[in-house]
Amino acid sequence: MIDFECADCKMLWRNYAEAMTKLVNLENQQKKAAAAGYLSLFKDLTNQAQRAEFQRDECRLQITRHEQDRHRAETEPASMDETSRSRSVFYADQYSAGKLVKIPG
Ligand SMILES: [Zn+2]
Repeated sequence: MIDFECADCKMLWRNYAEAMTKLVNLENQQKKAAAAGYLSLFKDLTNQAQRAEFQRDECRLQITRHEQDRHRAETEPASMDETSRSRSVFYADQYSAGKLVKIPG
């Protein structure tokens, strides 16, 4: 499970949440730009969103690596999976709360 007393865990999850928020904001702007017909702005936002998506994935990877390096000894694989899943659900909920519709690239 996640160690909430671990400063690294806290920092990594905060980074992940920030990256996710950034991505959500960009995708919202993308939708508006598409709706208004601002095509060059839309393309620009698409590029930014792709970078933000990469950044988010990178944050997620860092969390996985950190958990394996630092917390593996005290964590059963099954419970680690369970924790990751509930975290994913939590962020997926936040994500969908913004009522996002992915615009095809
Ligand atoms: Zn940690």
